[in-house]
Amino acid sequence: MGFHTCPYPHRKESRFPATSSGDVLLAFTNGHSYTMPDMIIHYVADHGWLPPVEFVEDVMTGTLAIQGGARAQTRSVSIGAIYAGTRIGYLDGPFETGPVPEDFVDRLEELMRLATEGGERAQTKSPPGFRGDFE
Ligand SMILES: [Zn+2]
Repeated sequence: MGFHTCPYPHRKESRFPATSSGDVLLAFTNGHSYTMPDMIIHYVADHGWLPPVEFVEDVMTGTLAIQGGARAQTRSVSIGAIYAGTRIGYLDGPFETGPVPEDFVDRLEELMRLATEGGERAQTKSPPGFRGDFE
């Protein structure tokens, strides 16, 4: 597993990196958990991807399990643990687009940051600031 580069064309500079170098596990207190590459937020913010409705709801209203502090001291998490969650993978080919709630991207970014700080991230390889090709 190296880093993954977004295969879709970019008309302008992307808001979020067009590569993924790791996976983040978002585990919510309602029991839902999602393993997702960094790329997810780029798909939403820069390509208008509409994630599954349950994921959107959890991001908008859910509380991360790590916010309780139970796992806040965990600085590394095994790939096995990461993949125990529902997998949201890389997009390939046509995908569904549509509006997400106004604060969705900001909330997702914050949840990803909290999860990373809580050790819920598996780093693979860091590309140097790649933000996508221009069309
Ligand atoms: Zn892209």
